[in-house]
Amino acid sequence: MTEHQLPQGFETLAIHAGQEADPQTGAVVTPIYQVSTYKQDGVGGLRGGYEYSRSANPTRTALEECLAALEGGARGLAFASGLAAEDTLLRTILKPGDHIVIPNDAYGGTFRLFAKVLTRWGVEFSVANTQDLETVRAALRPNTRAVWVETPSNPLLGITDLAALAEIAHGAGALLVVDNTFASPYLQQPISFGADAVVHSTTKYMGGHSDVVGGALVLADAALGEEVAYHQNAMGAVSGPFDAWLVLRGIKTLGVRMDRHSSNAEKVAELLAGHPKVSQVLYPGLPGHPGHDIAAKQMKAFGGMVSFRVAGGEEAAVEVCNRAQLFTLGESLGGVESLIEHPGRMTHASAAGSPLEVPGDLVRVSVGIESIDDLLADLKQALG
Ligand SMILES: *Cc1c(COP(=O)(O)O)cnc(C)c1O
Repeated sequence: MTEHQLPQGFETLAIHAGQEADPQTGAVVTPIYQVSTYKQDGVGGLRGGYEYSRSANPTRTALEECLAALEGGARGLAFASGLAAEDTLLRTILKPGDHIVIPNDAYGGTFRLFAKVLTRWGVEFSVANTQDLETVRAALRPNTRAVWVETPSNPLLGITDLAALAEIAHGAGALLVVDNTFASPYLQQPISFGADAVVHSTTKYMGGHSDVVGGALVLADAALGEEVAYHQNAMGAVSGPFDAWLVLRGIKTLGVRMDRHSSNAEKVAELLAGHPKVSQVLYPGLPGHPGHDIAAKQMKAFGGMVSFRVAGGEEAAVEVCNRAQLFTLGESLGGVESLIEHPGRMTHASAAGSPLEVPGDLVRVSVGIESIDDLLADLKQALG
């Protein structure tokens, strides 16, 4: 950022980092450089450093610089999906014979990547409850290269103490990788607590409008960032320019959206906590949540995701999902519109029979930014 030298707050960075006005036209918004290749001034004479859009593309560069600024890291990288980002990171930092500790509550696709894909390449994993640091210590092995965590976790909204986990990972010579999709960097910046790598499905809060699939990595260390960037180009699962532009556009309003997602979710959690047909509410913003104090320490607010267990059991939980109207029945999360789903039969079906299996009476909602009274009324009628 050459034009602005003053220290900058999160919302300013979200709107400006990596996004100076276009030098040729003055366009205030970074254009969609829908282009694959770039004219060279003589062999090897690159004008703007761009050569071929798998290696780098100006719209993607703007997003990558913005991501690094928002997470406080040395290098940001944008991918075609969250799982493409995860795969690229894992195949950079792990090799056959290495071991990784993964959480017992995680995105179903992340678990499937470890269980069904990486094991075939000779990578070993152990499952630990990252909320109980002793179980993480017990899972470490001499060949442990990384510890993976989600906080808040998907779909049980568990909270892990990031600073404490970083200390344990580093003490074992392992990297700490944090999937920050649920919180977004507006609510939580894992690198400030010692994380080495931050993972995002930008499909969710970063994009924020349910209109793009994307992923991101932010690396705390420039050398590791360079190594992952090398693999990004070598493996090729990059974000296309239009997708990068959509995510960049979403990020501009991340702060105001997260504030509203969080305040709406707090009210949803309160309603559910007082409802006779709900046996348990999982939301870190509730004072009774076991991770409430840690969440209050490491997050700016408690986010827009709420899970709850329905007293009537699995069939009753499925009925609640089916009866909801304003809450759209669907997978994914983090968009401006509210969504409801049954994790056991939808997002986490691939974890059935594993240590990551979720309870059948569980319902997960992604609380959107619609009028709160309408959201509460819909949940009341859906619970019956
Ligand atoms: C959706 C999601 C992913 C996977 O991202 P895709 O963009 O769907 O590939 C990873 N982690 C979490 C927490 C997610 O919610």
